[in-house]
Amino acid sequence: MNQAYSKSLNILIEQLGKLPGIGPKTAERLAFYILKTQPKEALALAQAITAVKNNIKRCKICNNLAEGETCSICSDPRRDKSVVCVVEQPKDLISLEKTGICKWSYHVLGGHIAPLEGIEPGDLNIESLLKRVRSGSVVELVMATNPNIDGDATALHIASLVKPMDVKITRLARGLPSGSTIEFAGGPILAEAIRGRQQID
Ligand SMILES: [Zn+2]
Repeated sequence: MNQAYSKSLNILIEQLGKLPGIGPKTAERLAFYILKTQPKEALALAQAITAVKNNIKRCKICNNLAEGETCSICSDPRRDKSVVCVVEQPKDLISLEKTGICKWSYHVLGGHIAPLEGIEPGDLNIESLLKRVRSGSVVELVMATNPNIDGDATALHIASLVKPMDVKITRLARGLPSGSTIEFAGGPILAEAIRGRQQID
Protein backbone atom coordinates (compact mmCIF):
# COMPACT_ATOMS: atom_id res chain seq x y z
CA MET A 1 0.00 0.00 0.00
CA ASN A 2 1.51 3.30 -1.12
CA GLN A 3 0.09 6.23 0.85
CA ALA A 4 0.88 8.62 -2.02
CA TYR A 5 -1.74 6.87 -4.15
CA SER A 6 -5.50 6.96 -3.70
CA LYS A 7 -7.28 3.90 -2.33
CA SER A 8 -8.73 2.88 -5.73
CA LEU A 9 -5.34 3.10 -7.42
CA ASN A 10 -3.72 1.01 -4.70
CA ILE A 11 -6.41 -1.66 -5.11
CA LEU A 12 -5.88 -1.75 -8.88
CA ILE A 13 -2.09 -2.11 -8.44
CA GLU A 14 -2.65 -4.86 -5.89
CA GLN A 15 -5.03 -6.78 -8.21
CA LEU A 16 -2.78 -6.45 -11.27
CA GLY A 17 0.17 -7.60 -9.17
CA LYS A 18 -1.63 -10.91 -8.53
CA LEU A 19 -1.43 -11.80 -12.25
CA PRO A 20 1.28 -14.31 -13.21
CA GLY A 21 4.50 -12.74 -14.40
CA ILE A 22 3.51 -9.25 -13.21
CA GLY A 23 5.84 -7.78 -10.59
CA PRO A 24 5.06 -4.70 -8.44
CA LYS A 25 6.75 -2.27 -10.89
CA THR A 26 4.82 -3.60 -13.91
CA ALA A 27 1.58 -3.59 -11.88
CA GLU A 28 2.16 0.08 -11.13
CA ARG A 29 2.93 0.88 -14.77
CA LEU A 30 -0.23 -0.94 -15.98
CA ALA A 31 -2.37 0.80 -13.35
CA PHE A 32 -1.16 4.20 -14.52
CA TYR A 33 -1.78 3.20 -18.13
CA ILE A 34 -5.37 2.22 -17.28
CA LEU A 35 -5.80 5.45 -15.31
CA LYS A 36 -4.84 7.67 -18.26
CA THR A 37 -6.52 5.63 -21.01
CA GLN A 38 -9.99 6.52 -22.41
CA PRO A 39 -12.84 5.31 -20.13
CA LYS A 40 -14.29 3.29 -23.04
CA GLU A 41 -11.09 1.29 -23.50
CA ALA A 42 -10.48 0.70 -19.82
CA LEU A 43 -14.07 -0.44 -19.32
CA ALA A 44 -13.80 -2.79 -22.33
CA LEU A 45 -11.03 -4.59 -20.43
CA ALA A 46 -13.17 -4.80 -17.29
CA GLN A 47 -16.13 -6.10 -19.34
CA ALA A 48 -13.96 -8.70 -21.10
CA ILE A 49 -12.91 -10.06 -17.69
CA THR A 50 -16.54 -10.11 -16.50
CA ALA A 51 -17.70 -11.87 -19.70
CA VAL A 52 -15.04 -14.57 -19.40
CA LYS A 53 -16.00 -15.27 -15.80
CA ASN A 54 -19.76 -15.20 -16.44
CA ASN A 55 -19.99 -16.97 -19.81
CA ILE A 56 -17.30 -19.63 -19.88
CA LYS A 57 -18.37 -22.98 -18.49
CA ARG A 58 -17.29 -26.60 -18.96
CA CYS A 59 -18.45 -28.65 -21.94
CA LYS A 60 -20.81 -31.34 -20.68
CA ILE A 61 -19.26 -33.91 -23.06
CA CYS A 62 -15.50 -33.32 -22.90
CA ASN A 63 -14.99 -30.82 -20.05
CA ASN A 64 -13.29 -28.33 -22.38
CA LEU A 65 -14.03 -24.62 -21.91
CA ALA A 66 -17.37 -23.76 -23.51
CA GLU A 67 -19.69 -20.77 -23.89
CA GLY A 68 -22.76 -23.01 -24.16
CA GLU A 69 -23.69 -26.55 -23.12
CA THR A 70 -21.03 -28.05 -25.40
CA CYS A 71 -17.71 -26.67 -26.65
CA SER A 72 -17.03 -25.58 -30.24
CA ILE A 73 -15.23 -28.87 -31.01
CA CYS A 74 -17.96 -31.20 -29.66
CA SER A 75 -20.61 -29.20 -31.53
CA ASP A 76 -18.66 -29.32 -34.81
CA PRO A 77 -20.15 -32.05 -37.07
CA ARG A 78 -16.91 -32.25 -39.11
CA ARG A 79 -14.95 -33.50 -36.08
CA ASP A 80 -14.18 -37.21 -35.83
CA LYS A 81 -15.98 -38.28 -32.64
CA SER A 82 -14.58 -41.83 -32.91
CA VAL A 83 -11.05 -40.65 -32.04
CA VAL A 84 -10.79 -38.99 -28.63
CA CYS A 85 -7.59 -37.24 -27.59
CA VAL A 86 -7.16 -37.19 -23.79
CA VAL A 87 -5.40 -34.10 -22.39
CA GLU A 88 -4.74 -32.77 -18.90
CA GLN A 89 -5.85 -29.15 -19.36
CA PRO A 90 -7.67 -26.96 -21.91
CA LYS A 91 -4.36 -25.20 -22.67
CA ASP A 92 -2.93 -28.56 -23.91
CA LEU A 93 -5.89 -28.87 -26.26
CA ILE A 94 -5.13 -25.39 -27.59
CA SER A 95 -1.46 -26.32 -28.20
CA LEU A 96 -2.52 -29.45 -30.14
CA GLU A 97 -5.15 -27.52 -32.12
CA LYS A 98 -2.51 -24.96 -33.14
CA THR A 99 -0.73 -27.68 -35.14
CA GLY A 100 -3.75 -27.55 -37.47
CA ILE A 101 -3.69 -31.31 -38.12
CA CYS A 102 -6.14 -32.57 -35.45
CA LYS A 103 -9.53 -33.64 -36.74
CA TRP A 104 -10.40 -35.61 -33.62
CA SER A 105 -12.39 -34.68 -30.50
CA TYR A 106 -11.04 -34.35 -26.96
CA HIS A 107 -11.50 -35.24 -23.33
CA VAL A 108 -10.08 -32.86 -20.72
CA LEU A 109 -9.10 -34.65 -17.49
CA GLY A 110 -8.59 -31.50 -15.42
CA GLY A 111 -5.08 -32.52 -14.31
CA HIS A 112 -2.99 -35.64 -13.70
CA ILE A 113 -2.83 -38.29 -11.01
CA ALA A 114 -0.35 -37.18 -8.34
CA PRO A 115 -0.77 -39.02 -5.02
CA LEU A 116 1.91 -36.87 -3.36
CA GLU A 117 -0.12 -33.75 -4.19
CA GLY A 118 -3.29 -35.51 -3.04
CA ILE A 119 -4.71 -35.81 -6.58
CA GLU A 120 -6.38 -39.21 -6.92
CA PRO A 121 -8.02 -40.69 -10.06
CA GLY A 122 -11.42 -39.79 -8.56
CA ASP A 123 -10.50 -36.09 -8.72
CA LEU A 124 -10.15 -36.22 -12.53
CA ASN A 125 -12.80 -36.51 -15.25
CA ILE A 126 -12.05 -40.18 -15.84
CA GLU A 127 -15.53 -41.60 -15.18
CA SER A 128 -17.06 -39.38 -17.88
CA LEU A 129 -14.35 -40.59 -20.29
CA LEU A 130 -15.13 -44.24 -19.51
CA LYS A 131 -18.79 -43.48 -20.10
CA ARG A 132 -17.95 -42.15 -23.57
CA VAL A 133 -15.92 -45.28 -24.34
CA ARG A 134 -18.68 -47.56 -23.00
CA SER A 135 -21.19 -45.89 -25.31
CA GLY A 136 -19.35 -47.71 -28.11
CA SER A 137 -18.76 -44.70 -30.37
CA VAL A 138 -15.03 -44.43 -29.59
CA VAL A 139 -12.53 -46.38 -31.75
CA GLU A 140 -9.25 -44.82 -30.59
CA LEU A 141 -8.13 -43.01 -27.44
CA VAL A 142 -5.02 -40.88 -28.00
CA MET A 143 -3.33 -40.31 -24.65
CA ALA A 144 -1.86 -36.80 -24.80
CA THR A 145 -1.12 -36.29 -21.12
CA ASN A 146 2.23 -34.58 -20.50
CA PRO A 147 5.34 -36.65 -21.30
CA ASN A 148 6.55 -36.65 -17.69
CA ILE A 149 6.21 -39.05 -14.72
CA ASP A 150 2.72 -37.91 -13.66
CA GLY A 151 1.44 -37.70 -17.23
CA ASP A 152 2.78 -41.17 -18.05
CA ALA A 153 1.26 -42.65 -14.87
CA THR A 154 -2.10 -41.05 -15.68
CA ALA A 155 -2.03 -42.41 -19.25
CA LEU A 156 -1.18 -45.91 -18.02
CA HIS A 157 -3.90 -45.80 -15.36
CA ILE A 158 -6.54 -44.88 -17.94
CA ALA A 159 -5.16 -47.45 -20.40
CA SER A 160 -5.56 -50.16 -17.75
CA LEU A 161 -9.19 -49.16 -17.16
CA VAL A 162 -10.00 -49.05 -20.86
CA LYS A 163 -8.12 -52.22 -21.83
CA PRO A 164 -11.08 -54.61 -21.32
CA MET A 165 -13.17 -52.41 -23.62
CA ASP A 166 -12.83 -52.77 -27.36
CA VAL A 167 -10.83 -49.61 -28.08
CA LYS A 168 -7.36 -48.86 -29.47
CA ILE A 169 -5.16 -46.83 -27.11
CA THR A 170 -2.26 -44.77 -28.44
CA ARG A 171 0.21 -42.48 -26.73
CA LEU A 172 1.49 -39.22 -28.10
CA ALA A 173 5.16 -39.50 -27.37
CA ARG A 174 7.62 -39.81 -30.21
CA GLY A 175 9.65 -36.65 -30.64
CA LEU A 176 8.39 -35.11 -27.39
CA PRO A 177 11.26 -34.70 -24.93
CA SER A 178 10.68 -36.85 -21.85
CA GLY A 179 9.89 -34.75 -18.78
CA SER A 180 8.50 -31.88 -20.84
CA THR A 181 4.93 -30.59 -21.24
CA ILE A 182 2.50 -30.39 -24.17
CA GLU A 183 1.99 -26.69 -23.51
CA PHE A 184 5.60 -25.75 -24.17
CA ALA A 185 6.36 -28.16 -27.00
CA GLY A 186 6.79 -26.46 -30.38
CA GLY A 187 4.19 -26.92 -33.14
CA PRO A 188 6.37 -29.05 -35.47
CA ILE A 189 7.42 -31.35 -32.58
CA LEU A 190 3.77 -31.78 -31.54
CA ALA A 191 2.70 -32.47 -35.13
CA GLU A 192 5.42 -35.14 -35.38
CA ALA A 193 4.27 -36.65 -32.07
CA ILE A 194 0.66 -36.75 -33.27
CA ARG A 195 1.56 -38.47 -36.54
CA GLY A 196 3.93 -40.90 -34.81
CA ARG A 197 1.63 -41.91 -31.96
CA GLN A 198 2.13 -45.49 -30.85
CA GLN A 199 -0.18 -48.11 -29.50
CA ILE A 200 -0.07 -48.88 -25.77
CA ASP A 201 -0.14 -52.65 -25.18
ZN1 LIG B 1 -16.56 -30.54 -25.73
